Amino acid sequence: MTRKPFIAGNWKMHNTVEESVNLVKEINPLVAGITEVDIAVCPTFPSLVPVCQALGDNIALGAQNMYYEEKGAFTGEVSGEMLKSAGCTYVILGHSERRTLFGEGNDMVNSKVKKALQIGLKPILCIGESKEERESGKTFDVLQKQLLGSLKDLTKEELLKVVLAYEPIWAIGTGITATPEDADSTIGDIRSILQKQYDEEASEGIRILYGGSVKPSNVKSLMEKSNIDGALVGGASLKAADFEALVKLTKEVL
Ligand code: PEP
Repeated sequence: MTRKPFIAGNWKMHNTVEESVNLVKEINPLVAGITEVDIAVCPTFPSLVPVCQALGDNIALGAQNMYYEEKGAFTGEVSGEMLKSAGCTYVILGHSERRTLFGEGNDMVNSKVKKALQIGLKPILCIGESKEERESGKTFDVLQKQLLGSLKDLTKEELLKVVLAYEPIWAIGTGITATPEDADSTIGDIRSILQKQYDEEASEGIRILYGGSVKPSNVKSLMEKSNIDGALVGGASLKAADFEALVKLTKEVL
């Protein structure tokens, strides 16, 4: 089964509105005309609309979080409907920084995933184990719990609209990347969990990205692995030339 590769930039809490627009204007010509790889950038909330207005045709817009209610007395929150009206196609959900710094558990992430799907936003659902969990041999169980909890009650059709991102916490922003072999085999485990819960069409059809210190020097060896369909990228997505290289090197692997 062929799955289209996907490179998504998570800009996290970086860049003013002006800096965000400048960055996307720099990226646009560097990746213009590339349609073999899906490309998305995920700026902060205030930058979504101006970035959307400046975005090249082949780059999609994503947000980094949302709340599952449509509107109301939820000070500080932003709804999926609002993200859609701002031009978003994707929304990152369950990022480890949301889980660890802001206490988001699988039930909360599940409510957000369901809401996003209900209104036609595509979730980029993140899961990943900590260093301690990996070292004590708990990776499989941790991922299974996050996966099944965050995907609870989803039909196969809904599941296939989700993009998964396997992001080992110990590799995020640390400069330490999982080896291509480890990332491939862990993503293979994720596919086997999905095969058991759903079926082979689901486990082979869903796109699963790797995230964690992906950069131009390591992207190719990761993308060459059969289970890995792309990357969710933090740090390197903030530099136009690096982001260009990630997209073009991924295209070369096709
Ligand atoms: C991320 O935040 O999703 C991420 C993978 O960050 P980095 O690429 O900087 O490790």
